[in-house]
Amino acid sequence: MIYDIIVIGAGPSGLSVAVEAVKENLSLLIIEKGGIVNSLQNYPTSMTFFSTPELLEIGGLPFTSSTMRPNRIDGIQYYRKVAEYYKLNFAFHKKFLKTQNNGNEISVLTEDENFKSRSVVIATGFFDNPNLLNVKGEELKKVSHYYDEPFRFYKNNVAIIGAKNSAAISALELYRAGANVTLIHRGSALSENIKYWIMPDIKNRIEEGVISTYFNTNVLEITESKILLKNNEKGEFEIENDFVFAMTGYRPSVEIFEKSGIKYDAETLAPIHTSSFETNISGVYVAGSIISGKNNNKIFIENGRLHGKIIVDDVKIKYLS
Ligand SMILES: Cc1cc2nc3c(=O)[nH]c(=O)nc-3n(C[C@H](O)[C@H](O)[C@H](O)COP(=O)(O)OP(=O)(O)OC[C@H]3O[C@@H](n4cnc5c(N)ncnc54)[C@H](O)[C@@H]3O)c2cc1C
Repeated sequence: MIYDIIVIGAGPSGLSVAVEAVKENLSLLIIEKGGIVNSLQNYPTSMTFFSTPELLEIGGLPFTSSTMRPNRIDGIQYYRKVAEYYKLNFAFHKKFLKTQNNGNEISVLTEDENFKSRSVVIATGFFDNPNLLNVKGEELKKVSHYYDEPFRFYKNNVAIIGAKNSAAISALELYRAGANVTLIHRGSALSENIKYWIMPDIKNRIEEGVISTYFNTNVLEITESKILLKNNEKGEFEIENDFVFAMTGYRPSVEIFEKSGIKYDAETLAPIHTSSFETNISGVYVAGSIISGKNNNKIFIENGRLHGKIIVDDVKIKYLS
């Protein structure tokens, strides 16, 4: 079978493309390496969205929540309901590798099965590829780029590397669960983009001294029981450490771009695309947060959900008429 459109990635942006395709009666397959909204499943257990529910809606279906900011489970259930309502067609637990353009059709290669389509939308986000510290010891089991919950770290020395929202939230949760928290950042201060309701809490805890900080400080090495740091004031020095959360952000997989022949900006890692999100490969589009490359704060659910209609309109005119 040749599909009209194959969407890669069942995140909020991929789902919004899929919904628009179904509304236009296109034959559709969504290929997802995990389960539905896989990234959300791996977010911190007790996270709440910073957006209000209506800004997370897709397909015109209302997202009701008892609180102003819905939580992770509200989000997962909402997007699953959208998928059910629109009867979206999925191939789950299938890892996409690359596309091959064969003129009238595009081959979509996964680890164990190949598919054919007239158009493909890559909406794989960035959450699988953390920005690495590139220091010795980063590979140790005690180091993670994904924070989940704080309870197993009671009385442990936990270092948070970074100074944005995720770093601030995890530092606060860990402190409140009884961990000894140290926040380490190569810059001179907390990010100004930390949400306005989180900023006073983290600033006050730092001022109180219950969360320690090292600003203008670089991590040189991580060992089983210590971290080696360096700053101008103290030179090289060590701190006791049991666990590390490196909240240093994420970047899209350029491997997908390179294997599929998709051009991207070498500096930002953002795929080159037209105003209707088509890449340099005819019929291959990008949607959602993958578009912003390393600048993760540019496209999120609120605006990524709007790509679907533009893409589907373009696909219909160019490849299905
Ligand atoms: C803690 C936290 C809170 C947030 N709160 C908000 C908020 O309040 N409001 C907001 O607008 N945004 C928020 N965001 C950002 C938002 O979640 C992301 O921008 C959004 O998920 C991006 O959607 P996406 O569909 O582009 O990518 P993703 O949601 O990352 O989806 C990509 C999908 O592609 C799949 N995939 C990846 N590689 C492959 C492959 N090779 N083969 C097959 N499938 C693959 C993944 O498994 C995943 O399901 C938050 C992010 C975090 C971390």
